[in-house]
Amino acid sequence: MTITSDTPVAIIGAGPAGLVLAHLLKAIGIDSVVLERRDRGYVEQRVRAGVLEHPSVELLRDLGLADRLEREGLSHRGIELAFEGRRHRIDFLDLVGHSITVYGQQEIVKDLIAARLAAGDPIVFEVDDVTIDGIDSDFPTVGYTHDGERHELRCRIVAGCDGFHGISRDRIGEGPSGNTVFDRDYPFAWLGILAEAAPTIDELIYSSHERGFALYSMRSPTITRLYLQVPADERIEDWSDDRIWSELEIRLPTGDGFSFNTGPIHERGITTMRSFVSIPMRRGSLAIAGDAAHIVPPTGAKGMNLAIADVAVLAEIIDDVITDGKDERLDDYTDECLRRVWRCQHFSWWMTSMLHRFDDDPFRRQLQLSELRLVTSSTPAATNLAENYVGVALGPSLRSPATQAGDGRSLAGARSLASEGKVDR
Ligand SMILES: Cc1cc2nc3c(=O)[nH]c(=O)nc-3n(C[C@H](O)[C@H](O)[C@H](O)COP(=O)(O)OP(=O)(O)OC[C@H]3O[C@@H](n4cnc5c(N)ncnc54)[C@H](O)[C@@H]3O)c2cc1C
Repeated sequence: MTITSDTPVAIIGAGPAGLVLAHLLKAIGIDSVVLERRDRGYVEQRVRAGVLEHPSVELLRDLGLADRLEREGLSHRGIELAFEGRRHRIDFLDLVGHSITVYGQQEIVKDLIAARLAAGDPIVFEVDDVTIDGIDSDFPTVGYTHDGERHELRCRIVAGCDGFHGISRDRIGEGPSGNTVFDRDYPFAWLGILAEAAPTIDELIYSSHERGFALYSMRSPTITRLYLQVPADERIEDWSDDRIWSELEIRLPTGDGFSFNTGPIHERGITTMRSFVSIPMRRGSLAIAGDAAHIVPPTGAKGMNLAIADVAVLAEIIDDVITDGKDERLDDYTDECLRRVWRCQHFSWWMTSMLHRFDDDPFRRQLQLSELRLVTSSTPAATNLAENYVGVALGPSLRSPATQAGDGRSLAGARSLASEGKVDR
């Protein structure tokens, strides 16, 4: 027997995209059900991104979900770029008037889950065999199995927030016009560790070294997060703790007065690097958001922020559809998201290209060094990096927060200013 229920919006996936969407909808009075195939503990412990752009922080603050983030998150006013053994600072606050916040993705996920469950709103963990039917109608259904029983959710909109390996993107591709994929693989990956070692500096160091890229970052006053560029087919078993620490010692700018603490490694993994965009992001009543639709290499720290940006657009469109009956707004979803998606794709590709070792081609290396020297010596070049890194305002406008008029600092502010015509659309 199938248990049937109704909800305006079925959300597949309890990652940043699905959870932020559920909260945005709740804030405008629209109910939803979130379905997640993993258990709560798993999604709350999954270590991934950690840099929140300024507009993402503002959005979480507007939703009343930033209390712990503001207490425990680390506000960074810039980053350092290291090459040829020296560090060079890019000061975001000076250049564009905004900073970024370092706060683990798993901490955001914990906060969003706790707030939703405390409000009595549903997240169904450990669902299996999720199916989506009736996409081309106004009455789609989402089927799933939970605790051995089959369920069917009847809804108006299905939000596929199920990450890169989810089921939703393929359902869009089954439509009459299929989907178009743009992608690029990189010949390297990131070996990432979380170590119990107090950070020795307040900001991230992106280091471009002849042996490969390294990133010094942190998650809290006691935990460092470190990355090393490794070949794409590298095996984590081949990296002992000693090998990791000594390679970091070589690649980080320790000759420039910088030193770092070592400590027990709690978490380690290898993340492949990819640029990927699949369009359209919507077919009929199904819209996809976040990693389900696009992937960026992590060098620009954009993945989680893009997921949040997509659902900010989607929530507004769902509001138009469900509250005002403006179904045609769904047609705008892909294009409204893609302008930001491609800006972030370019920035992530550019940062990756500038900082990593690709091959032994000395010509390419000299071009990289020339670009690094430019970015660290020219104010316009540094400003370009800074405004992309802190994040352009959410919504259709691509103007950076720093160049916006008035108080258009928050998601609500930026979007309402855009709709009032006070900033360029
Ligand atoms: C291994 C890894 C490491 C990363 N590291 C970094 C990093 O260091 N820095 C950085 O900036 N970015 C990083 N990223 C990118 C960033 O974490 C993602 O961009 C972000 O998680 C996107 O959020 P999302 O909600 O779109 O997708 P996800 O976080 O992937 O969430 C999707 C959710 O959907 C669930 N799901 C999938 N299929 C189904 C189904 N059929 N039914 C129900 N639920 C389903 C999944 O279990 C998951 O909880 C990393 C990503 C990965 C995958």
